[in-house]
Amino acid sequence: MENTEKPIKNLPGPRPKRSFNFYWIYGVIVVMILAMGLFNFNSHVVRIDISDYDNFLAQGDVQGIIVNGDAVMVTIKKDSLEKEVHKKRLAGVTLEAGAPQYTFYIGNNPQMQQQVIEQARAKQVDVRINPQNDMGKEVLQWVLFFGAIILVWMFMMRRMGGPSGPGGQIFNIGKSRAQVFEGGKSTDVTFADVAGLDEAKEELQEIVDFLKTPKKYTDLGAKIPKGALLVGPPGTGKTLLAKAIAGEAQVPFFSLSGSDFVEMFVGVGASRVRDLFKQAKEKAPSIIFIDEIDAIGRARGRNINMGSNDERENTLNQLLTEMDGFGTNTGVIILGATNRADVLDRALLRPGRFDRQIFVDMPDLNERIAIFKVHLKPLKLDIAVDVEFLARQTPGFSGADIANICNEAALIAARRKKSAVEKQDFLDAVDRVIGGLEKKNKIITNEEKRSIAFHEAGHATVSWLVEHASPLVKVTIVPRGRSLGAAWYLPDERHLTTTEQMNDEICAALGGRAAEEIMFGKVSTGALSDLEKVTKQAYAMVTMYGLNDKIGNISFYDSTGQSEYSLSKPYSDHTAQVIDEEVRHIVEAQYARAKQILTDHKDKLTALATQLLEKEVIFKEDLEVIFGDRPFGHPEEKPKAIAAENGLGLPAPAGAPAHKEDNTTVA
Ligand code: ADP
Repeated sequence: MENTEKPIKNLPGPRPKRSFNFYWIYGVIVVMILAMGLFNFNSHVVRIDISDYDNFLAQGDVQGIIVNGDAVMVTIKKDSLEKEVHKKRLAGVTLEAGAPQYTFYIGNNPQMQQQVIEQARAKQVDVRINPQNDMGKEVLQWVLFFGAIILVWMFMMRRMGGPSGPGGQIFNIGKSRAQVFEGGKSTDVTFADVAGLDEAKEELQEIVDFLKTPKKYTDLGAKIPKGALLVGPPGTGKTLLAKAIAGEAQVPFFSLSGSDFVEMFVGVGASRVRDLFKQAKEKAPSIIFIDEIDAIGRARGRNINMGSNDERENTLNQLLTEMDGFGTNTGVIILGATNRADVLDRALLRPGRFDRQIFVDMPDLNERIAIFKVHLKPLKLDIAVDVEFLARQTPGFSGADIANICNEAALIAARRKKSAVEKQDFLDAVDRVIGGLEKKNKIITNEEKRSIAFHEAGHATVSWLVEHASPLVKVTIVPRGRSLGAAWYLPDERHLTTTEQMNDEICAALGGRAAEEIMFGKVSTGALSDLEKVTKQAYAMVTMYGLNDKIGNISFYDSTGQSEYSLSKPYSDHTAQVIDEEVRHIVEAQYARAKQILTDHKDKLTALATQLLEKEVIFKEDLEVIFGDRPFGHPEEKPKAIAAENGLGLPAPAGAPAHKEDNTTVA
């Protein structure tokens, strides 16, 4: 998501930050407890019964009494304190000289009080009557007591995220978590900020129109659509488009993600949906944008019955009801975004709910140029930077990738203390985005390095010599991220793939391992990602695309996504066995083919690997020097492509023995 906007008003969502720290409550509580302790200056006094007092009085031990409201404080004569009975009672009490040692209560009883006073006077005991009966002190004690309780309570609410708490979870759990962007104030994204995607923009322009001038449509009797679903791979600008609609239409924009509905408590999702729609209707015309809608909109399950799933279904049902429930012309339009439209519940897609599906595809060359232009605008560029060149270097990149590359390039340039971002910074940024961080200091032994070089040279050689492999861009043995080397291709724009093309791709992917085997007579773990890819592809050929003679025109692909949860296979054990055999057959045949090609061209393979060890990175032009022109006149770089491929994706072997410290280049 673009982060140029700030939500102006957060409904229950993130709360404005309070400037004070709630931990001061700890301090206040401690102070209060101390204060209460101070007030309680009876602490050095031992409580007795009135009968004990009578005894002491009879013994002549009492020197004086202080009548303090309903309490009477008793001071014992100095020499009487030596008596065993007092010593016993006062053991462990710190006595203050001249201060009372005992106290007893006579209740709020004036007669009793009078009686005590008279008895004492009769025994020549000092009697002092404290006129004020400590109302103030008592009130203060109570106030402090309740104050402390209230503070503790507030603190606990805070901890639980109560009404005033930061998360607000417990009490606001059923409230929607939508971020609200008020119309016209903060969604400063417009269609101009969205590069390419012309068809999508055209469709959405109409929605903007609905929101701005609904009358134009309702006058003619047309119903305003309730929702549109943006479908496309991640990072292609779906969120951006949704924001642009809000920006263009200048209406409140409620943005949240499908997973925001789901909580571990039952019923919360549905309640959040209700709350969201209530808020949106209050602010109509408005837009609700639910990102990753597949989190709740997945087809209601048949075969799983887990609690979380029930909850998701309830949420979805509520969403369906709300979308149906509000009248056509309330002016709330729902936009959903997903990259898995195929798994969505059919009920969600029917007209009247998400009436329109808008496909947001990966950008082609021209669109990439446009996206680059948007994201290059804020950068300080060297004049030599050519937008088209950059767009050509980034086949299969999404808008988000391109935004990332532009930023990464600026960071790299800044690190190199340049005054403007140069072409090389962009190329390095591309490498970094695809391959991860360059690991210059990764310790690789000479032997490993040779093996990596031959592995990558094997990929390059085979892909150069088979007809349908994608054209090579460059080969590198510079370790990056988790890979130790890579051969980069520029895949063709292709919507249909034939058996031959798939076979050639598998053959090229196996070229790395085949080269290792031919040159060193042994193979390594370095082919992990190749093998993974090849296996998946071969299984897809057999079980999904119907490209295998023995299995025939049968596909076990399930576009509804239901089978993901299924424990049983949709075919018999016998078929399973045939599938496995056929997959093995395909892979082994291509491996043998790759080995054959490499054996036939061993000299060229060696030349390539040697050059790779010297230069670490070699480009298509270097290959042409070694191999001559590519045998199959492959049309030059096609604009729309799928992805560059990483050659060696080696997970760092856990607990591998320490490498011998050897430095890079080897002749
Ligand atoms: P998603 O399709 O996953 O929702 P986003 O809309 O969040 O993708 O896109 C992520 C970022 O990629 C955007 O914030 C923007 O910077 C960039 N981006 C993607 N597509 C485009 C585009 N067509 N034009 C300009 N920027 C784009």
